[in-house]
Amino acid sequence: MQTTMNEGLLVVISGPAGSGKSTVINNIISNASEFVYSVSVTTREPREGEIHGKHYYFIDVDNYKKRIELDDFLEYEEYAGNYYGTPKSDIMNHLAEGRNVILEIEVKGAMNIKSKYPDAVLIFLLPPDYRTLEKRLRKRGSESEEKILKRLEIAKWEFEYYYKYDYLVVNNHPETAAGEILNIVKTEKLRIKRNNIFYENFYNLGDKT
Ligand code: 5GP
Repeated sequence: MQTTMNEGLLVVISGPAGSGKSTVINNIISNASEFVYSVSVTTREPREGEIHGKHYYFIDVDNYKKRIELDDFLEYEEYAGNYYGTPKSDIMNHLAEGRNVILEIEVKGAMNIKSKYPDAVLIFLLPPDYRTLEKRLRKRGSESEEKILKRLEIAKWEFEYYYKYDYLVVNNHPETAAGEILNIVKTEKLRIKRNNIFYENFYNLGDKT
């Protein structure tokens, strides 16, 4: 998939639980209409306030397995005992029509996307330090102590992958982090590799007088 200036960008955002991904992404989506959020499928139980079709499509394991067989996912992974997948459905249409698609996925899924779609831009979001991460995770109050410890353990493992990403954004304030991501996307769209079409059209579209 070779993108051009007019095509959207596939933007992958990963970060350990507690890095504030959802808040930062909400900030982007509500302020920049050229961005769409790809709603994933999961087999985990909904947390309080989570809405089917908005935060996730909540499905059971049988249904999940069926969708894998039907080749419905761009990528899929297991995380902390639950299954997650990125539905292919509308993503390619959004990109072709110039919308940037945000995937909020964990590191193994991100690596899969990078190998399938080298034009994707991978951003790793981090909280300022480990204590903040732990505090944010506990404040959420939606998980048992056992689950929190499991997520912290995974977070340590996920940190090891940050150098495989294209950009690192530290989430001190969600608005600032969102602004930095918007800047990354703007800059990425100016890359030469995404603008070959500009060069091809250069001599044809100018004033001929
Ligand atoms: P949570 O259960 O906290 O909503 O998500 C757990 C982890 O799964 C997070 O790191 C989140 O980014 C990741 N995740 C959410 N959807 C997907 C998906 O479709 N694919 C993959 N690989 N990871 C996902």
